[in-house]
Amino acid sequence: RPGAAEWVPQDPALRDVEDLRAAARDCRGCELWEPATQVVFSAGAPSGRLALVGEQPGDQEDRRGVPFVGPAGRLLQAAVEEAGIAREDVYVTNAVKHFRFTQSAPGNRRVHATPDAGHVTACRPWLAAELAAVDPDVVVVLGATAGRALLGPSFRVTKERGRVLERETSRGPKRFVATIHPSAVLRTPDDQREEARAGLVADLRVAAEALG
Ligand code: SF4
Repeated sequence: RPGAAEWVPQDPALRDVEDLRAAARDCRGCELWEPATQVVFSAGAPSGRLALVGEQPGDQEDRRGVPFVGPAGRLLQAAVEEAGIAREDVYVTNAVKHFRFTQSAPGNRRVHATPDAGHVTACRPWLAAELAAVDPDVVVVLGATAGRALLGPSFRVTKERGRVLERETSRGPKRFVATIHPSAVLRTPDDQREEARAGLVADLRVAAEALG
């Protein structure tokens, strides 16, 4: 896996979000591009004050080329609104830009497979470049894969969620707030799902307060 760096434009004049999105279409930084339909880069406000970073596109996102449009994305959008975060403040992206899946036979359902540490590392140059371009005030880390990508391999969402963490970045100190991925809410058993969803909203409220 060569990693994405050689596909990320080096010219500072060609590193806004639209430039990066266009360049990412050609990325061959790891093997995930090949079985996927297309790269799924990001959506939302290119200078949003708050960035939401998830894991990877899912089946519907892969087909449509837009992140967070499937069931987990709808749940996230509702939680963001409930937390009082304005849509125009939000930029959404993923740690890994191609859908990783398993499929028992051609035409069968494609089943999500968690990207491994090598995929996260390979794709990180895109995440670093887009966050440098967007320059959000607060970054919300959705789940373990985004946590590994942004806060290091030993980061544990369950231990660190729901509070403001300060980290140094290429654009100076930034605030990060970790929470669970919305797909984890969907996987929670029925009788505990509302509690899991409320926990996600509560963590997003912490991020909203950090925005000021
Ligand atoms: Fe490139 Fe990331 Fe896709 Fe791998 S997952 S091919 S590094 S955009």
